[in-house]
Amino acid sequence: MCGIVGYIGDRNVYDVLIKGLHRLEYRGYDSAGVALETPEGVLNVYKAKGKVSNLENFCKDKDLQASCGIAHTRWATHGEPSDVNAHPHFSDDRKLAIVHNGTIENYQILKDALIQHGCRFHSETDTEVLVQLIEYIKLKNNCQLIDAVREALNQVQGAYAIAVIEAGNPHQIIAARKSSPLVIGIGNDEFFLASDATPIVEFTKEVVYVKDNEIAILRRGEPMKLVTLSNEEVSIDVTALELSISQLEKGGYPHFMLKEIFEQPVTLRDCIRGRVIEGGKSILLNGVRDHKDKFINAKRIVIVACGTSWHAALIGKYLIQEMCDVPVNVEYASEFRYNHPVLEEGDVVIAISQSGETADTLAAIEIARDKGAFVYGISNVVGSSIPRATHSGTYIHVGPEIGVASTKAFTGQVMVLTLLAIAVGELRGTLTKEQIAEYGKEINAIPDLVKQVLKLDEQIKHLSAIYTYARNFLYLGRGYSYPAALEGALKLKEISYIHAEGYPAAEMKHGPIALIDAEMPSVIVAPYDHLYEKIVSNVQQVKSRGGSIIAIVTEGDTVISNIADHVLEVPKVPEWLTPIITSIPMQLLSYYIAINKGKDVDMPRNLAKSVTVE
Ligand code: GLU
Repeated sequence: MCGIVGYIGDRNVYDVLIKGLHRLEYRGYDSAGVALETPEGVLNVYKAKGKVSNLENFCKDKDLQASCGIAHTRWATHGEPSDVNAHPHFSDDRKLAIVHNGTIENYQILKDALIQHGCRFHSETDTEVLVQLIEYIKLKNNCQLIDAVREALNQVQGAYAIAVIEAGNPHQIIAARKSSPLVIGIGNDEFFLASDATPIVEFTKEVVYVKDNEIAILRRGEPMKLVTLSNEEVSIDVTALELSISQLEKGGYPHFMLKEIFEQPVTLRDCIRGRVIEGGKSILLNGVRDHKDKFINAKRIVIVACGTSWHAALIGKYLIQEMCDVPVNVEYASEFRYNHPVLEEGDVVIAISQSGETADTLAAIEIARDKGAFVYGISNVVGSSIPRATHSGTYIHVGPEIGVASTKAFTGQVMVLTLLAIAVGELRGTLTKEQIAEYGKEINAIPDLVKQVLKLDEQIKHLSAIYTYARNFLYLGRGYSYPAALEGALKLKEISYIHAEGYPAAEMKHGPIALIDAEMPSVIVAPYDHLYEKIVSNVQQVKSRGGSIIAIVTEGDTVISNIADHVLEVPKVPEWLTPIITSIPMQLLSYYIAINKGKDVDMPRNLAKSVTVE
């Protein structure tokens, strides 16, 4: 959560920082701020509650000259979103300014001790404790900033990516990370830093991904230096960025979310590319092939994830159990890490996260590794923490997802899980050559079929008007359509703030059926599959209680189409590919309902894209 940016160099520092904050705003947007240091070494901090545009208004008449600067867009964890709690935070003598992504877990103990030493606090944040601690150490030991930062970080428990600047030292930024992402961009006698590469890509393609417990020393006119918390210098590993600017812009769409929904034929093609080979006869996932014994011998697979990725994980369970005949458990990473997970050597754990930085999923990975499991990561962001923390894995390759509500990353995750299930089924001998060839063909057809589904756009736009003022929704499905229904409900909640519950359709009669009346619409995901007859009864149960029904059905459906109030027809695909196809109309429905309600779909309230706090 939250985005940090920093810059030292000849460009207009304020402009680089503001542009960077806009690129990172999807990560957090309750308040924003900048700290600018003039060439004479004077530190100015400007901050404002709300979005980055509020900060820009606030800065209009301010002194914006700078040789270096740091900036932040916040997703509050400690203290309400307000001007005072916004970052950067000054130290008490206003000589240091800090931006921080993460949480300091022992902040209260540290704060109490600092108050005893006479420190005065101005905000409610955990972050201010860290900058005060750095200042306290610096004054007490009469040492350089880098030494004070290192000593302070050795006392801190929790997660952080930080950047600190110091009055009187206008050509230096000290930055560090532990469990929160941090990327440094190296330009021509200039340095950039950010929570991810999006603010950096238009200036340089050379980046360094800082690792946990490393501190970066960025000084104008000197090469970048990295040291560990125990002050050992580490070598610098420069990586070339593959990101392009056009991937970060809206490309003519009014919102990133709509752009990302419409990108899915391309992103799914990118996700499949090079993986469905020999015209569909084989599935190649290097991460699986390089560790085939782990998958062949696995007695059990556990998938850990959060949010939308958890829904993809549930679909993964259905896929892997069907194709590989191995038991699969799906766990919320946030529960798994504390529920005394029973794992043993030989178990395979799959961890899924779009950003590759989800704090709970990273913690679950650590536990799984400690217990001797083989851990496989599925993420979107190249160079992020999860691919580094796992033994092996696969990128979904859907390009940057900026809309906070996930769309193309969800279908990419489901596609990778589908490929993985087939690849593992091939290795374990649970799928025949003929089946694999058939499945390869079906997968290759998906991007064009998704294009076809997107033609429902106009119909869904009209339909959304009828349901904009519903206060509750039920989303029902069975088999593969059950997790698809959960994801449909989550999408609606996230961006329209309408209460929506996803449920296995047959479970409805054990409780939620009591909710059904004329005011409670249901979205029923009912493509033609082996549970079709069963779901027809569930549709009838809803209808006979006066509930209105939007049904997502296979083209040519006659039975449900005659019962439902509205029907969205999707092309016929094998059952195990239906979630990719049926999720598209639900994404569009949520989008248009939220737009009708005037909501900010790309930055829904209280949410952030990359959940780097526990
Ligand atoms: N814990 C800090 C705060 O609440 C930083 C949160 C963030 O990552 O935005 O201010």
